[in-house]
Amino acid sequence: MKKLLVASSNKHKLSEIEDILKINGCDIQIVSPEELGCKEEPDENGSTFEENAFIKADFYYQRYHLPTLADDSGICIDFFDGKPGIHSARFLPEMNYQQKCQYIIDQLKDSDNRGAQFVDCMCFIEENGNVNYYKGINRGYIAKKIAGDKGFGYDPIFVIPEYNKTEAELGEEYKNRYSHRAIALKKWIIDAKDKL
Ligand code: IMP
Repeated sequence: MKKLLVASSNKHKLSEIEDILKINGCDIQIVSPEELGCKEEPDENGSTFEENAFIKADFYYQRYHLPTLADDSGICIDFFDGKPGIHSARFLPEMNYQQKCQYIIDQLKDSDNRGAQFVDCMCFIEENGNVNYYKGINRGYIAKKIAGDKGFGYDPIFVIPEYNKTEAELGEEYKNRYSHRAIALKKWIIDAKDKL
């Protein structure tokens, strides 16, 4: 079976990527840095999703020389001029996700400017070192209250307009097909699965 190193230690992301590949008929064995015994992590000091995705992919590619896929993702909130964006994981570090989500809701209280988008940039480095990028954007809006217990991170406050439900209410049925990560990964599947 073809091997793909997925450069992430985030178990939610790894499992979403695995599921998306599966439902799209890709017979690929995913390997995580943890499974390779890698204890080091890259310093995500880029200033764009693309730069951070490359930093992650290159970090592991240089060590293992396997075809490597990394994603950098985050939520961009209109009310905060696109923040936290690339800083989504490090936003309000003293809070857990329940508190971060509530903080965002409180800040937007009474505002009609509730638009937001999840962005995912994937960087794929082929075994021969060629570098490719794939991007997925999913627009929605910030809920007035936290809802749902599926997914992770900011899913409980990100509402999908077509359903008027959060991603945490819709769960994997929705996310594996239409999320920012699914959109980017489907582009990778079309372009790159035969480059493995
Ligand atoms: P990364 O590991 O640097 O790409 O960090 C991404 C961060 O963005 C995550 O830790 C979450 O806070 C947020 N994020 C990215 N994708 C999702 C998602 O699908 N649902 C909820 N939050 C997400």
